[in-house]
Amino acid sequence: MRTLFQRVVVAIVSTIVVATAGALGGYVLGHAYALRQTESRLDQYANRVLLETIASTSESRAMLETMNGSPYQLCSDAEIEYFRQLIFQSQYLKAAGRMRNGQIECSTTSGRNPLAVTRYSPVMARQDGTRIYKNLAPFRVDDQSVVAVQLGESFIVYNPYNFASLAAPPMHFTATAIDAPRHRMGQMIGDSPIVPENILTREVKANVGNTLYATRCAKDSSGCLTAYISMNDALAMNRKYSMVFIGLGAAFGAIFGLLCPMLYSRNKSVEQQLIRAIRADALSVVYQPIVELSTGQIVEAEALVRWTDEYKNNVSPDVFVKIAEEKGFVGEITRLVLRHALRDFGATLRARPSFRININIAAADLADSEFIPMLDKQLNEAEVSPRNLGVEITESYTARQQVARNTILRLRQRGHYVAIDDFGTGYSSLAYLHDLSVDAIKIDKAFTKAIGTDAVTVSILPQILTMAETLGLRVVVEGIETKIQADYFAASDQDIHAQGWLFGRPVPARVFLQMLDEEEARLTKQAEEEFPSGAIVVTS
Ligand code: C2E
Ligand code: MG
Ligand code: MG
Repeated sequence: MRTLFQRVVVAIVSTIVVATAGALGGYVLGHAYALRQTESRLDQYANRVLLETIASTSESRAMLETMNGSPYQLCSDAEIEYFRQLIFQSQYLKAAGRMRNGQIECSTTSGRNPLAVTRYSPVMARQDGTRIYKNLAPFRVDDQSVVAVQLGESFIVYNPYNFASLAAPPMHFTATAIDAPRHRMGQMIGDSPIVPENILTREVKANVGNTLYATRCAKDSSGCLTAYISMNDALAMNRKYSMVFIGLGAAFGAIFGLLCPMLYSRNKSVEQQLIRAIRADALSVVYQPIVELSTGQIVEAEALVRWTDEYKNNVSPDVFVKIAEEKGFVGEITRLVLRHALRDFGATLRARPSFRININIAAADLADSEFIPMLDKQLNEAEVSPRNLGVEITESYTARQQVARNTILRLRQRGHYVAIDDFGTGYSSLAYLHDLSVDAIKIDKAFTKAIGTDAVTVSILPQILTMAETLGLRVVVEGIETKIQADYFAASDQDIHAQGWLFGRPVPARVFLQMLDEEEARLTKQAEEEFPSGAIVVTS
């Protein structure tokens, strides 16, 4: 039997192991969940920045068209003032002005430029006629280049802080201008990462290298926005999810770990062990002699099943036969015992027609239509007569059910000896015994035990004996341990059979057969002593 300490150790170890596995599982799940969360946040972020970029682009486009339709003379004070008012009302623009041949002629910030000598070239020229500049030095803010767009002779400069306000570290973004689907012109705004080319212009969510990307493109195919984040930042951002998952994984693991020993011991439950033992033919059968009380000679044997469980405990048949009955597989025990008994005693039974082996059968056997055919088959195979095989049926089984009575009748018709076991403990009544056609009653050992005391059970014994005699039933007395008990029954003039430790304990077949041989040798010797060979016996 596993000690309490061993069980506790098993419980702790399995809890730790499974909780660790759970935590690892939680980590993997948490990791996956955190990535999913980041992907979705990145996607939302790309979308938000894209919408903002589209809004600023459409404002700049409208602004440029308004400027080109200016009613004032080019770069006049009135026009510069007009542009300043327009810029003042705009949301995304920092400055505006006029530009011809790449030269700035006037702007809202510097006014008219009398020395427009620097010639700027655009970084991109779009099909809609706009040209993009990133190098207009006069408009640099905090030493950062700004994005300017020219249409016709007007240009606008974006406020670089528009995009700064979109920053949401640790996420980054980059806006890519395209002139046809999937055709990249150049970077407009944002950080300049080494973003894989195909991710810049295609709506995808991707995990490349150690970075997560999400790209969203404008419907008019003017540009795409790629948001990205390093994997480390992504996981750090969602660490709480990982922690929650790890915690949950460990908790579930711990619960499961605690359940494991229970599941294990369930698997090791008596029922499961018993089923395994029966299937493996690991039950054994011992045989206890039943003697003729008047002579002490062995005339029968009772087959008793034995089982040592997986923890090396000897489990009492009172316990495990009951479990098998409750769980509906006691028939398998009966079959096993019969097989063993016929294997162990086949030859003896064929050689000694007067000797008998009795097996115990259960209520379920009596109700099982396969029982008698099974009995016949095994007896045929062993070439043993039904006369040499008796059955013992506990009184309570037989009391009420008609089907039990019918089976008993059939057994007796076939020549089997049928005894009512543990007689006196159940529903015995004279009428009941009258109805039931049996050969013998086995008086329960509780009565035997009471001999020599003034218990009520003792006072019933003479009545039982008389009743049995009247009904022509043999009496077998169980549990005889002392000479006093044996003498009590020997005083009766009935031919009583007795079973008990006084005559022999249940023993393996080999020992029993040896006992039989020794007894035979003793009887032969006795006979020879009484009637020496050659002696003439004269009878008057
Ligand atoms: P049972 O059929 O009444 O068997 C007699 C029981 O009394 C046996 O217990 C036997 O070992 C015990 N016994 C014999 N002589 C003495 C004695 O002098 N003193 C005492 N105190 N006990 C004695 P066991 O083997 O433990 O079996 C208990 C019960 O389990 C049996 O009672 C029977 O009802 C059941 N059983 C045993 N083997 C089988 C089997 O193969 N099939 C079925 N269905 N039941 C079985
Ligand atoms: Mg019995
Ligand atoms: Mg009994």
